[in-house]
Amino acid sequence: MFKWFGKVNFSPYTKVTDFAQYLKDGYLMASRCKQCGATSFPPKADCGECMSEDFEFFEISGKGTLHTFTKIVAAPTGFEDVTPYTVGVVDLEETGRLLAWIGDSVKENEIEIGMKLQVVPQIFEELEEIKVYYSLEKPGTTWAKSRSAM
Ligand SMILES: [Zn+2]
Repeated sequence: MFKWFGKVNFSPYTKVTDFAQYLKDGYLMASRCKQCGATSFPPKADCGECMSEDFEFFEISGKGTLHTFTKIVAAPTGFEDVTPYTVGVVDLEETGRLLAWIGDSVKENEIEIGMKLQVVPQIFEELEEIKVYYSLEKPGTTWAKSRSAM
């Protein structure tokens, strides 16, 4: 399943551009469907439950618990230069699960299922799309550009 990781990790946000603006301001946001209340992170403009396009943002902490992880040795196209690397799936405190790279702040021999991690977004602005890369770092890692402490 992780074969496609490199493609899903960089999430384009053309329909939910406010999300990128929130990130730049230092806020990590999830979406909540105004029709049925379903929540999603990363945010979705179209509800996966009821297909409504009526959604609102709410802030999340980015705190999560490691659900599983795997080391990638044979990387998908475009990621050969960075192998080997480790990806993990975290259960977020507020909503959902996120698949992301385990960042430099976490040593390989420290990685264990159930450990607490912090989702740290990095924004890439290229072409017409804004791409967001997430890494999983030690609790307390801050990422906000404009907010110094969480
Ligand atoms: Zn819905």
